[in-house]
Amino acid sequence: MHNSSSNNLIDHVKNYMQNEEKEIIDLACKLVNIKTENPPGNEILAAKVVEDFFKSLQIPYTIHEKITGRANIVGYIGGRGERPFAPTLLVACHLDVVPAGDDWKRNPFEAWVENGRIYGRGSSDNKGQMASMMAVARFLKENESKLKGQFILAGVADEERGSVLGLEYLLNECGIRVDYAIIPDVAHNMQLIDVTEKGALFLEIISHGKQAHGSRPETGINAIWNMIALLERVKQLKFQKTSHPLHTPPTLNLGSIHSGTAPNIVPALCKVQLDIRYLPDDSSDDIIDNLKNIIKEVENRYPAKFDLRIISDQPPTAVPTNNPLVELISKHTSTVLGTRPQPKGMSGATVAKQLIQKGITAVGFGPGDDTEAHATNESISVKELIDFAKIMALIAMDILS
Ligand SMILES: [Zn+2]
Repeated sequence: MHNSSSNNLIDHVKNYMQNEEKEIIDLACKLVNIKTENPPGNEILAAKVVEDFFKSLQIPYTIHEKITGRANIVGYIGGRGERPFAPTLLVACHLDVVPAGDDWKRNPFEAWVENGRIYGRGSSDNKGQMASMMAVARFLKENESKLKGQFILAGVADEERGSVLGLEYLLNECGIRVDYAIIPDVAHNMQLIDVTEKGALFLEIISHGKQAHGSRPETGINAIWNMIALLERVKQLKFQKTSHPLHTPPTLNLGSIHSGTAPNIVPALCKVQLDIRYLPDDSSDDIIDNLKNIIKEVENRYPAKFDLRIISDQPPTAVPTNNPLVELISKHTSTVLGTRPQPKGMSGATVAKQLIQKGITAVGFGPGDDTEAHATNESISVKELIDFAKIMALIAMDILS
């Protein structure tokens, strides 16, 4: 692209998205007003809004439901050329939200706009982003003749509870194939590009004792005391990898303890759940072996018996920091905002993980404050949604034309 034509495009995109402000607010509010708390989800209701939008623009789309009502909607724009010269770029926003919780100053499912921000459950996680991407879809549809590659916009289900009915289903069972993906579900106000995620290992440990009368504890085996002895050691768990240029150190959270019924009963069972976030290059097998050794030590010292169970293990992922998406995001964010977002590692897990595991170059990038997701009185800046639409339209034009 020549400089003059690229400057024209930049001005055109900037003006276009500025004029989309009302539309973006309307769409975001419409989506927020649809109750898609997961559980139970009901994403089909939000997918209908997206469907009406695609229909009105004659954007071809497909709807995929693994379970009735848990809809994913996927729209397709452009794509005359053949891969790999005409690549495909997927942007996926999730249509489910976490439960509203209490203490909202207004109804969380009646979106309102105040001081340049849209309020309501899902405004920042992830429906505002979806509205912004719908404006991008409209722009790209109007410029479809210039697109050799294909732009795929997906509104997905079930992100807040593991994506089994959402992106995972689309990738594994619906034949959705893409080269690149941007997941706008990382907040950080477009100042960070999520290129690597820690592994997330969820474990349960059960201490088995022997029930007895509380007045004669020596006749039983107290599952709680044994668990305390074990946890003291688990707390000092050593990781193989303790530092990484893009990550904070690995972490271990003791998330729950369940045991006991009454003061005068020696408890026979105690259950704990752990959330371990480990670095790329570390392995969950090593961590589990370590824990098993600790368990053996404690079992040798006390009349104790433990079971270790893996609840789930999502391995760490990383894409090269010099991949084309990082460059394009950096370039166009700089054009629109005057700042360059930095590649970073995330402690949480987004659906980018599932994409990377499929060999897709996927990164997380998008608008929103870190503190808003899942919070009471959740909100997002309208200006950020417009800026995000500008950046994403420029990225799509760059990579797909
Ligand atoms: Zn989210």
